[in-house]
Amino acid sequence: MGRSVTVLVFALASLALASAQCPRIINRAGWGARSASTGTLPNRPAPWVVIHHTAGAHCTTDAACAQQMRNIQAMHIDTNRWADIGYNWCVGENGAAYEGRGWGRQGAHAPSFNDRSVGICVLGTFTNGIPNVAARNAVQQLISCGVAAGHISNSYWLIGHRQANPTACPGDAFFNHIRTWPRFNPNP
Ligand SMILES: [Zn+2]
Repeated sequence: MGRSVTVLVFALASLALASAQCPRIINRAGWGARSASTGTLPNRPAPWVVIHHTAGAHCTTDAACAQQMRNIQAMHIDTNRWADIGYNWCVGENGAAYEGRGWGRQGAHAPSFNDRSVGICVLGTFTNGIPNVAARNAVQQLISCGVAAGHISNSYWLIGHRQANPTACPGDAFFNHIRTWPRFNPNP
């Protein structure tokens, strides 16, 4: 192959690899987000991933998950007086990943980790049960996708919100589960 063809094939293979690792993504327009302006993440690529639950309702359909996203954004903006929804991403039990503040933006989800992490929440309450397989796979794929695209460090560490702040988040059952995930850090 000529050099340009080789480069093209390599570029396409890399693109396919990167996109193959991503979950189904619903961007802000897709869930009807209000417009907001937030600052960039000071530490990029993010060296930490913080896992949350919303401690709210579960959703298994696109319509219900989009409604959850709008409700959470409204609470974070109108009640908490934050600039935007606090999380970088949320995942539903419909298997989709919802863009919150998104990649490369500082979230408002785990004080002392906000400037160095990507905050990913799962929509629902996981005190007594873990997210379904669709949601678990989507979180793992989102992390792989973020690493492949250079938004998350390839030597990142993963923690549950309760390791950063006094909170029950992401719920006892889900927290015990994520302790088995790759890159979990027991002593952040
Ligand atoms: Zn949390």
